[in-house]
Amino acid sequence: MSSEKTFVVAINCLDGRVQDCVNRWLKNIYRADYVDVITAPGPVKILSSGEPEFMVASIQKCLTVSVEEHHSPALAIVAHHDCAGNPLPKEEQVGQLKVAGERLRARFPEIDIRLLWVDENWQVQEIETAILQG
Ligand SMILES: [Zn+2]
Repeated sequence: MSSEKTFVVAINCLDGRVQDCVNRWLKNIYRADYVDVITAPGPVKILSSGEPEFMVASIQKCLTVSVEEHHSPALAIVAHHDCAGNPLPKEEQVGQLKVAGERLRARFPEIDIRLLWVDENWQVQEIETAILQG
């Protein structure tokens, strides 16, 4: 990259309601210029189960580009209220988030991983013990 702009990266649901709030949260915490966003329906379900494999591989490939080419120092993984792709209660989605974080930590040991829950008011909440420091 020739510019001095900074990036962070999010694995977010494709749900339009959770894009702006998560991007604002990340830009604010990391003072980043841009957020690379990898979307899937209910990505924590995919990442925690490892299914379907082609979607896991796609997410990991996108993440590699953001980390290696854009030098993103931090990743947010997002689950949210009223998720059509993963219609589970918060407690179960938080469990999936933690599994997803641990799995990606194994592949990307050098970046911060933040686990985020977006609530019914579209407010971002960080899950306790969430930061897996890079
Ligand atoms: Zn969703």
